[in-house]
Amino acid sequence: MFRDFSKGITRRWMLNNLSVILTIVILIVISLIFAVSYIYNNSVQQVLSSACNELSAVFPNYQTDNSNTFISTSRNYVENFNYKDRMEVMVLNSTGRVMMTSTGFNPDENQEMPDFELANTSEYGIGNYSGNLNSGESVTAQTHIITNQNGTCVGAIRYVSSTEIVNNTVLTISIIIILSGLLIIVLVVISGSYFIRSIVRPVRDLSDTAKRIAQGDFSVTINKKYDDEIGELCDAVKDMSKDLQTADQMKNDFISRVSHELRTPLTAIKGWAETMQLNESGKIERSTFEKGMNVIIKESSRLTSIVEELLDFSRLQSGRMVLMCEKLDILAELDETVYMLKERALSESKHLLYDEPETVFPPVYGDRNRLKQVFLNIIDNALKYTPESGVVAIQVIYDTDKQPDIIKVVVTDTGCGIAPEDLPKVKDKFYKANQKVNGSGIGLAVADEIMTLHHGSLNIESGEGVGTTVTITFPIYKEGQQPEIPKQEIIKI
Ligand code: ADP
Repeated sequence: MFRDFSKGITRRWMLNNLSVILTIVILIVISLIFAVSYIYNNSVQQVLSSACNELSAVFPNYQTDNSNTFISTSRNYVENFNYKDRMEVMVLNSTGRVMMTSTGFNPDENQEMPDFELANTSEYGIGNYSGNLNSGESVTAQTHIITNQNGTCVGAIRYVSSTEIVNNTVLTISIIIILSGLLIIVLVVISGSYFIRSIVRPVRDLSDTAKRIAQGDFSVTINKKYDDEIGELCDAVKDMSKDLQTADQMKNDFISRVSHELRTPLTAIKGWAETMQLNESGKIERSTFEKGMNVIIKESSRLTSIVEELLDFSRLQSGRMVLMCEKLDILAELDETVYMLKERALSESKHLLYDEPETVFPPVYGDRNRLKQVFLNIIDNALKYTPESGVVAIQVIYDTDKQPDIIKVVVTDTGCGIAPEDLPKVKDKFYKANQKVNGSGIGLAVADEIMTLHHGSLNIESGEGVGTTVTITFPIYKEGQQPEIPKQEIIKI
């Protein structure tokens, strides 16, 4: 029924539940058998006691005048005995010999009567015995010694009741009780097995499915049969499989994109390097040589920035991105970045608008290079996703009245924008909403993490075909906030 009965939930159920139920049922069965046996044997004793009570009326204080009166009174008593149908009454002489019985048959001469011996030696002249006769019949007996006025034994009255019927009844009832106990245990085992099967089977199926998913087989289907915790587990594994599939797809896309991004500049560098090799024989023009050198330098820096981006990403993943913070002028850093990109915007026929504010802004506390990296990434994206003759406008806002603690840098473009369904995901690593434009899909993830490390934020608002606005917010430098001694960043690759 189960894969391995000796371990797992089944075994735990056997140990914890079944053993407890088994113990309880056994205890109940034993108690019931004892109770039934006690009640039945007690009823026999009570009949004996009733007969004995009568005897005290026949022989007051269990005494008589002499042997003769004992015999005549006893005969009379035996003849009129009320319980003949339930027991036998015997009249014994002073030595224990049977003189008459209510049945009329004398018992086996060799039959021992331990109750007579006991009664003879006991203080109250009463002796009890339960056991088997020589014939094998089981009986219970009670003997009362009758004395004369001097206290000498003149004889005894013995009651003998068969316990065969009682024993058989007790045995039958005990068998019924034991069978009922067994039936209860069988029912518990069947219902428990059904219940466990309803847990173990889906869990085992789910475990097999999870193993296949772990091996990269995302085609597996999960059948949710129950709407309970097992059902929730099915849903969780389903969601996990979906997320893993997406992550796997994104990873594959990322590898192919990065390979492509690395191959393009490498091809250009290799091509121009081979062309320039010809220069040794003076076969190429000076202008061609210079153009080639420019391409090699440009493509090398592109390679460097791709590798930098990958390194940043790896640091971000392993939590090794450490800031070297200091008090700095945000406008100066932004100015430098815009200056770097001005030429490019011009060459791509895009308008890069930035009016440096006239007022002096309070300093911020941050890592100069990392913040420049964020500006570069955001403005680079704005230019990248804006078509020719589009506009990228940069604004720096410091509202001393409403928000005196923060400075905002707002980059707005008139580019392709981002679809509403993509907008919540563009800050996720590897996520690319626009597959037509080159890019690794990790720039925004890195920029967002850098802003978080600066206790700032990076928000994106966008509309498809309308353009995008990225707002970067920095907390200003607080008075008394001591610039940290720059920490040395350890780069492990
Ligand atoms: P990429 O290297 O692909 O640009 P990013 O992480 O910088 O990666 O950006 C993630 C995605 O967000 C991009 O693939 C693009 O679809 C979208 N995106 C980012 N900035 C803009 C923008 N200014 N206009 C339109 N889409 C943008």
